[in-house]
Amino acid sequence: MIQDIAPHIFNNHFNFPSATSVDDLIFYFRDNKLMLVQNGDEPELPRRENLLQLDITGQSVFLFSINNQNCFWVEDLSVNGTDNYLFEEMNFFRTLKRKEMAWIGIVGTQLMNWYTQNKFCGNCGHKTIIQTNERAIKCPECSQTVYPRISPAIIVGITAGDKILLARGKNFRSNFYSLVAGYADIGESLEDAVAREVKEEVGIDVTNIRYYKSQPWPFSGSMMIGYWADADPNQLIVIDESEIVEAAWFTRGNLPNRPPNLSIAGEMIELFERG
Ligand SMILES: [Zn+2]
Repeated sequence: MIQDIAPHIFNNHFNFPSATSVDDLIFYFRDNKLMLVQNGDEPELPRRENLLQLDITGQSVFLFSINNQNCFWVEDLSVNGTDNYLFEEMNFFRTLKRKEMAWIGIVGTQLMNWYTQNKFCGNCGHKTIIQTNERAIKCPECSQTVYPRISPAIIVGITAGDKILLARGKNFRSNFYSLVAGYADIGESLEDAVAREVKEEVGIDVTNIRYYKSQPWPFSGSMMIGYWADADPNQLIVIDESEIVEAAWFTRGNLPNRPPNLSIAGEMIELFERG
């Protein structure tokens, strides 16, 4: 999956370093696009030493580390002569060959979005302060503390013997079939969400709901939580036309186009295909 970048080590333990280093990787965004330097055949994040001639103003916020190299988000930077730099949005990073660079670019963008969306307190409107003792944002006026917002979403591989139920979503960019998925709602367990989403989207009942794996999915700010479930394939499929174009049972060895296994959906379908 996209977060599997071994042997590289991504570490998001929040340990705000007391000192900076010339080796730190710097995340600077303009119009939600991340600044990169061209180096060799692929662009990469600038190191602090690459930016010495630039003026880093505002706060440096610790994000995480990659292979023990600390990564900081820099709010303001006076960038003159930006010809040397590229600015790329989150989806660009999916195309990079260096998987660790792709992953930190994607996660760094998600974190920047969270910080910038919480510049002001949602409770009283006062300007907030980014905390350095934990990954949190606090309002100095009313003390409301905000932690990273992650939306839990279930994704479910519905099987019946050598058949799997796949659906083509209305919003899928490619012509592929995938698993039923949806956000968990307030007041329900993840297993409740699986049963409800399947019923809503394809109209059938599932049993034997069991956890598989989870995957952080920064593109939508979600945590995808994978489940397997069984179903009687003789039930009538009734699709939710607002979300799904088509849903059907497919037999192992004869599956339609599916997402790549960078996503948990792709991995689960491949796992089913291999038996
Ligand atoms: Zn407040």
